[in-house]
Amino acid sequence: ALARAGRSGRYRLGVMGGTFDPIHHGHLVAASEVAAKFGLDEVVFVPTGVPWQKADREVSLAEDRYLMTVIATASNPRFSVSRVDIDRPGDTYTVDTLRDLRAERGEDTDLFFITGADAVRQILTWRGVDQLFDLAHFIGVTRPGVPMTRDDLAHLPEGSVTLLEVPALAISSTDCRERVRAQQPIWYLVPDGIVQYIAKRGLYPSFDSKVPHDR
Ligand code: ATP
Ligand code: MG
Repeated sequence: ALARAGRSGRYRLGVMGGTFDPIHHGHLVAASEVAAKFGLDEVVFVPTGVPWQKADREVSLAEDRYLMTVIATASNPRFSVSRVDIDRPGDTYTVDTLRDLRAERGEDTDLFFITGADAVRQILTWRGVDQLFDLAHFIGVTRPGVPMTRDDLAHLPEGSVTLLEVPALAISSTDCRERVRAQQPIWYLVPDGIVQYIAKRGLYPSFDSKVPHDR
């Protein structure tokens, strides 16, 4: 475990939830920027179990997404990975993630939930929204192609969400998967170990190799 830090004696824990299918440099830069700007002691990456927002597509096995997250974060002493969401049966809801982490880390930990601009707009549709803002402070990071203004937060409780501009990385997991399927490179969009893990496990096979053409 990392040493307790901060003048207040309270431990500042960033929480980065995601499908991470695969994890990419956009996720890592966002977490690193928030950690620096908010003086976080640690950022825990939490791969989702069953992502209910993504029921319309096949999501890679939780174990593969978990291992990719471990590989990508291993070199940073302030990054860690939690299994709370993949080990909890059923759909993943952020309110459960935050409750579990709070129970695990204790009362002298403050939680900072890091989320991309696309998700900030949906927060009010999340389950347990009444408790969400008591459990954590929310930090919305900008994402290229997803404009975000103060107006987007107008409907959220005062002071519950802070917006942060991070260096724009126009990388998405969707694009990475499509690139692998089209046999285009993903080098430098994801950490080297992730390129190798995807190849080794045969993730995101090209459609040609799965469905033979009719002749
Ligand atoms: P997909 O394309 O499959 O939806 P994704 O790239 O959006 O994948 P997620 O696992 O859905 O990745 O994202 C986890 C969190 O990281 C979300 O809060 C998302 O908004 C944020 N995020 C993803 N990509 C970026 C990026 N390039 N810059 C900043 N935040 C990002
Ligand atoms: Mg997404």
